[in-house]
Amino acid sequence: MNQKVYNWQLKRKMDFKYNEVRPQKQASWIFDINKCIACQTCTLACKNAWTSGKGQEYMWWNNVETKPWGFYPLGWDVQLLEKLKTQKWNKDKYEGKTIFEASQYGEEILGYTPELDDYSSPNIGEDETAIPVEQGQFIKIPHEPWMFYLARICNHCTYPGCIAACTRKSIYKRKEDGIVLIDQKRCRGYRECVRGCPYKKSFFRENTGKSEKCISCYPTVEKGFQTECVTNCIGKIRLFGFKSQWAKPREDNPVDYLIHVRKIALPLFPQFGTEPNVYYIPPIHIPQEFNKQLFGPGVEEAVKAYKNAKDDKRLIAILLLMGCTDKIIHSFKVEGNLEKGEAIGFDEGKKEIIRVPLKEPIYIRKAYDEERKVQRISIP
Ligand code: SF4
Ligand code: SF4
Repeated sequence: MNQKVYNWQLKRKMDFKYNEVRPQKQASWIFDINKCIACQTCTLACKNAWTSGKGQEYMWWNNVETKPWGFYPLGWDVQLLEKLKTQKWNKDKYEGKTIFEASQYGEEILGYTPELDDYSSPNIGEDETAIPVEQGQFIKIPHEPWMFYLARICNHCTYPGCIAACTRKSIYKRKEDGIVLIDQKRCRGYRECVRGCPYKKSFFRENTGKSEKCISCYPTVEKGFQTECVTNCIGKIRLFGFKSQWAKPREDNPVDYLIHVRKIALPLFPQFGTEPNVYYIPPIHIPQEFNKQLFGPGVEEAVKAYKNAKDDKRLIAILLLMGCTDKIIHSFKVEGNLEKGEAIGFDEGKKEIIRVPLKEPIYIRKAYDEERKVQRISIP
């Protein structure tokens, strides 16, 4: 029998198989979509760390797909959205059905199992724009042919579809940090998690006959460091941290600040109902309707806040702290003003671990170097 649990992203109670149990602190990520360049360094860092073995060839625990035409596996979101059918938000409250509530008689979750071929083109649609760019067309602002890069990992959901789907009870959510793991000894490879995860982030490994998924680099996290996909990110788009309870956010916690205080980082497909814990700063240059379908009704406000970030020193501070240290930032503060101030990050014991200027100093060098008697060809 289903329980009634509260989902703060939907602003209502919903059906879930198990009771509402929230970890004291939740492993969470912020991805600033506007800065991603699809270099796939995160993808390779994750693959080298965790999925370079036999039977894991097709597994990309981290992938970066170009929206609107990129998917891994093929059409993962479109396939589920089509099954879920049209649903409804009433302002910021979701009045439609979640994947738990829309399930048919006899199934735990509304889901589907991808075909093997669906995993064969992880880069499909890369760099393709939403509408074709005609010959002779020049760039106008705002761009009409738009696209953006969507980096994806397991969301370490609060109400994981994979856990609700697993009939063996092989998947668990850690009390201490909310990381979701598959017990390899219990798993029998029924693939219910593959079917039940709406984000298709649980994978079946043929040669072991078991399922595997992102482990949030827990050996690294336990030592106080951010995950591999975060520390290797070239674009500095990522931040890993621990989110407080949704009702008691801490203003000095960078992830709480972006998610709950400024509401600038939003969950991906909150309407699925799993309360995912990867939060995206939405792209500011794409049609709002597409943005809204992906990130929910908070999109307009989030885009507005991001566009005005340059006048907000606390917001700027966190955006600049992203990707600047491999250690987990538990709290932050700002010293000074927007012109000359600094953003400072602290570890769990309140020790300073990182300090960055709010404004990068700019040095303009002369085109001709008097001292060396040479002409500089690259000025910056
Ligand atoms: S994203 Fe999928 S695999 Fe990860 S916790 Fe959520 S339901 Fe499970
Ligand atoms: S490493 Fe960072 S910038 Fe590069 S693709 Fe991954 S998320 Fe995007």
